[in-house]
Amino acid sequence: AAVPPAVAAASAPPHLLLICFPGQGHVNPMLRLAKRVAAKGLLVTFSSLASVGARLAAAAGVSAGGDGVPVGRGRVRFEFLEDGDPGPDLDDLMRHLETAGPPAFAALLRRQAEEDRPVACVVANNPFMPWASDVAAGEGIPTAVLWVQSCAVFSLYYHHVHGLVEFPPEDDPGARFKLPGLPEMSAADVPSFLLPSNPLKLHADAIIRQFRTIGRASWVLVNSFAELEADVLAALPGVTPRTPELITVGPLIELHQGQEDDAMRGDLIKAADDCVEWLDAQPPRSVVYASMGSVVVLSPGEVAEMAHGLASTGRPFLWVVRPDTQPHLPEGFLDSVSGRGAVVAWSPQERVLAHPSTACFLTHCGWNSTLETVAAGVPVVAFPQWGDQCPDARYLVEELGMGVRLRGARREAVREAVEAAVAGPRAGEMLANARRLSAAARAAVAPGGSSDAHVQAFVDEVARRSG
Ligand code: UDP
Repeated sequence: AAVPPAVAAASAPPHLLLICFPGQGHVNPMLRLAKRVAAKGLLVTFSSLASVGARLAAAAGVSAGGDGVPVGRGRVRFEFLEDGDPGPDLDDLMRHLETAGPPAFAALLRRQAEEDRPVACVVANNPFMPWASDVAAGEGIPTAVLWVQSCAVFSLYYHHVHGLVEFPPEDDPGARFKLPGLPEMSAADVPSFLLPSNPLKLHADAIIRQFRTIGRASWVLVNSFAELEADVLAALPGVTPRTPELITVGPLIELHQGQEDDAMRGDLIKAADDCVEWLDAQPPRSVVYASMGSVVVLSPGEVAEMAHGLASTGRPFLWVVRPDTQPHLPEGFLDSVSGRGAVVAWSPQERVLAHPSTACFLTHCGWNSTLETVAAGVPVVAFPQWGDQCPDARYLVEELGMGVRLRGARREAVREAVEAAVAGPRAGEMLANARRLSAAARAAVAPGGSSDAHVQAFVDEVARRSG
């Protein structure tokens, strides 16, 4: 018998719509959150800008619009904003978004209601789209924010924006400051956007601006886990009476309990999946994996030094050199390391980190890479450049004890740092720390773990409010 319309509407799953900044470090955690939430029974629409729509839909294997694909007990679908063409430069993109973003997003939200999929909740990953929650509020829709950096970095920004901390001068490395739940730090441990020397003023403004309104979000989800950042999580509620509660839902990773869940990937550059076969052919715990993420650009001189440094370790290495940087490789380098060294434009990073041949990760310490190496239990050579990479590096090396710091891309320094992380006197201890943290990370996202329980509670609350 036909279902009466009222019953059909009542049994439709709540609709959660994510709006994601089109950078790789945002797309990965947002898409993984989309899948987690959908698996628990929601209809999830993942949206971003038109400029990345075609690449994302192709990587995920899902076309935009329509009903999307089943994920666990729910579905994930894709839709992209009709926001015009921002141009390739990040500053241009941010200026473009200020004017084109809000009306395009409002239109997208209204379209959902018109097509009988009213949105119960928006998830925005604010930094560079701080208007998203205001647009949602204008449509009467509650917002959750996904904070894609650590709780420690959240605390640093929060204290700064509310005038609760003064960072020491950058030219005084010995000067220290202390925030509740965090170890003593110097200016070098502060996200570089907050320091006077920061050249990226638009970024800094956008990041800081979101903290003025973040208290309006109904939930602040964070890609971290309670066991990793217990002290700072305990200290945050006391910072001001209005400090939002951080709800840990991470690590947002694809590989669970050895099971690959990497259908619907978000790679904006096509990954060289065949490098996993290359890893299969290497001895256990032998390979140095090196990647600086999706945004950091090393100078031509640094690329050359890194090349010589990696080659001089005598170990097999897998190095991600994005296409724009490949011309800076020394002449004849690829031939000289052929067989022992592999260079790829983009790797399936989580699978590389989880591979038994991988011995250490030379990383820029973006927060996604940081959590992925924690989840995989792989020690690091930390080579941070800017933003939150500096506090993340300090955290990995000094607090978690799972790696060494590389300062400057000189070839001898690269070789020494890799040796220290793989075979030095403290290498065994670093590996043991990394493995212990890996077990804790996996337990947090396993059924009933702390982050899994937080995702379930969030889904239940969205369903309750929309019911
Ligand atoms: N990544 C990848 N293949 C690569 C390099 C990076 O899949 O060759 C992924 C990585 O797993 C992570 C993201 O890209 O999820 C980079 O995010 P992160 O926060 O580490 O750095 P960002 O690119 O934002 O600086």
